[in-house]
Amino acid sequence: MTTTTEEKPVEQHAFEADVSRLLHMMVHSIYSDKDVFLRELISNAADACEKLRYEAISNPDLAADGVRPRIVVRLNEEARTLIVEDNGIGMDRDEMIEALGTIARSGTRAFMERLEAAKGGENAQLIGQFGVGFYSAFMVADRVDVISRRAGQTAAWTWSSDGQGTYSIGEAEPSDAPARGTRVTLHLTDDAKTYTSKWTVERIIREQSGHVPVPIELIEKEGGEPTQVTDGAALWTKPKSDISKDDYADFYRSVSGQYDDPLLNVHFRAEGLHEYTALAFVPGSQPFDLFDVERNGRMKLYVRRVFITDDAELLPRYLRFVRGIVDTSDLPLNISREMIQDSPVLTAIRRGVTGRVLNALEKLPETDTVSFTKAWELFGPILKEGIYEDFERRAQLLKLARFRTTISDDNTRSLDDYIKDMKPGQTDIYYMSGASLEQLKASPQLEGFRARGIEVLLLTDAVDSFWTSNVGDYEGKGFKSVTQGLADLDAKADEDDTPDSATEVTPQLSSLIDYMKDTLKEQVADVRRSRRLTESAVCLVASDAGPDRQLEKILQSAGRVKTASKPVLEINADSPLVQAVAILTDPSAKEDAAWLLLDEALVLDGDRPANPRAFAQRLSRLFAKAYGV
Ligand code: ADP
Ligand code: MG
Repeated sequence: MTTTTEEKPVEQHAFEADVSRLLHMMVHSIYSDKDVFLRELISNAADACEKLRYEAISNPDLAADGVRPRIVVRLNEEARTLIVEDNGIGMDRDEMIEALGTIARSGTRAFMERLEAAKGGENAQLIGQFGVGFYSAFMVADRVDVISRRAGQTAAWTWSSDGQGTYSIGEAEPSDAPARGTRVTLHLTDDAKTYTSKWTVERIIREQSGHVPVPIELIEKEGGEPTQVTDGAALWTKPKSDISKDDYADFYRSVSGQYDDPLLNVHFRAEGLHEYTALAFVPGSQPFDLFDVERNGRMKLYVRRVFITDDAELLPRYLRFVRGIVDTSDLPLNISREMIQDSPVLTAIRRGVTGRVLNALEKLPETDTVSFTKAWELFGPILKEGIYEDFERRAQLLKLARFRTTISDDNTRSLDDYIKDMKPGQTDIYYMSGASLEQLKASPQLEGFRARGIEVLLLTDAVDSFWTSNVGDYEGKGFKSVTQGLADLDAKADEDDTPDSATEVTPQLSSLIDYMKDTLKEQVADVRRSRRLTESAVCLVASDAGPDRQLEKILQSAGRVKTASKPVLEINADSPLVQAVAILTDPSAKEDAAWLLLDEALVLDGDRPANPRAFAQRLSRLFAKAYGV
C-alpha cells in the first residue's frame, strides 16, 4: 500500500462469515418497510450518547466539553446522501472492527438460522420483527461510510463498505471527523432517494424515534440550519404533576395517530418485581378498524425508551382500543417478537396494565360520568368480549357494563342498578337480544314483563348473545332470556299480585291448541297458552331446554349450526283474534288461520314467514273473504 505523508493507510478486511450472510439477506431482502434503518441508526446514536453519559460518571474528562448530547440527521438531495451523526462515545479502530465487522450479539446467530430456515415472505417478516441493527443501512444504501472519534482520543477512524463482503478501515483526517462521536453516511440507492426528502425523514423520525432520550435535529440541505424534530424528553418519565392535560393529549395524538381528545389517561410506574412505566389512553373516537378480526392491540413497547414494537400483546384483545406505551427496563433491547410474547416479563406487564386500565374505567363514573358514558358507548361492545374471554375479570367487566333496558333508552343502566330495582321474589336478570332496539321494544315477548313491572335488558350487540349464554351469574343472580322457555314468569305470576288471565280455557281454545300443534308440527315443538302476552295474539319462544333464539340465529347465519331447534308458539287466550279463530268451523279457513298466526309470530321476531308463497296465497284468500273480491 503506497501512501504519502498526508494520506493515511487504508486496510481491507473481509467481513466475518455471519456478517456476510446477514448483509446478503439485507441487500436481497424484499422487506417492504425499509424505514426501519433510520430507527436503527438513531437508536445506535442514542445508545452511544447514553454510553458516554454512563462512562463520564466515572471519567468526567470524557465529556469535559459540556456539550449536550444530540443527534443530527443531515440530508443532501444532490449527493443523494443521508447522514446520522452523534456526539456520543464514538469508536476507536479496534472497536470499529469488532462492532462493524462481526456480530457480537448473542441472539443474532440464532436469529439468522431461523431466518435462513424460514421461506420467502416469512423471511422478510422476521427481519422486520428483529432489531436489524447497523447492517440494515444496506437495505437502502450501496455504500456506507462511518467516521468516528472515541471520546477522550485524538485519532479518528474511517470505515467504509459497499456491503459486498469486505470493508476498508483507516485513520481519518482529524479535520474530517466529528470532535467526538460518530458520523454514518449512507450513499442511498436509486430506489431509496426518498430518504433525502425532509418530509419523509421527519415523519419517520417522529413516528419511530419520537421518544428517543436524545434530542434529534434535522438539516434538510447542505449548509442549512438544523431544526429540532424531537426534544429527547420522554413524556412518561416526567412526574405526573409536571404533565398538563394538553401534554397528555398531544402525546396521545402522536402515539395513536387519532385527532380527538382521550377520554381517560392512565399513567403509572410499577416498581418491585418488575419495573415499567405505562401510559395508556382510552380514545375519544373509534379507530376505523376496531371490529377487524385480525386487529390486535396497538400499545407500543419501549425498552429503556427505545421503541421496540407495537405488535406485542401488551393488553388482552378486549382492550384493543386502548392506545399508549409501556416502557420497561426488564427486557433486553434486541429481543425478537417471538421472544417477547413468551416472556414472563410481558405476562406480568399485561396483568398489571390490564388491572390498572380496568380500575380506572371502574372509577371514572364517579368523577366524570360524561366521559364514562361516551367510553362505554364507543367501546362497550369490545369490552363485553372480555366477559366471556377473561374469566378472572368477568365480575369486574360485568360491573362496568351499562345497558339499555325496558325502563331506559340510554345506555346507562348498570347491573347493580338493575338488581337494586328487582321485584320482590325475582331471582334472575332478564334480557332479550335482537338486531335493533326498535325491534326489541316492539317485541311481544316483553308484554308480560312490562305488565308485571319487571325490567328487561335490551341487548343489540352481536357479542351479547355469546356472553349471556355462558356467563352464569352476577352477584348471585342468573341471566335469563325472555325468549327462553317459560322464563319462570309463571312461578312469579303465582307469587305476585298480578291478576291472572281473565279468560278461562274454553273447550274451543284447548281444541284450537291441539289443532295447531298437529297442523304446525313440522315448524314448532309445541303450542301453548301464553302468560307473557297481554296485547299480541302470538309469539315464539325457545323450547324449555333449547338455546336462546337470538344466539341460535347468529350461530345459524355463521354456519355454526345447521338446523335451528324448533321454537314453541305461544298464543294469547285473551286476544279477540285468537278467540275468533277458536270458533272457526270451516276447515280450510281454520288451517289458513293457524298458519297465519305462526307467520305473524315469525315476522314479529324479525324472520320470514315459514313459506312465503303459501303465506301470500293464504293472505289473498283472507282478503278475498274480507272484501268479497
Ligand atoms: P446493537 O445496537 O444491537 O449492538 P447494531 O448492529 O445496531 O447492534 O450495532 C453494532 C455495534 O456497533 C453497537 O453495539 C456499537 O458498539 C457500534 N455502533 C454502532 N453505531 C454506533 C455509534 N453511532 N456510536 C458508537 N458505536 C456504534
Ligand atoms: Mg443498534
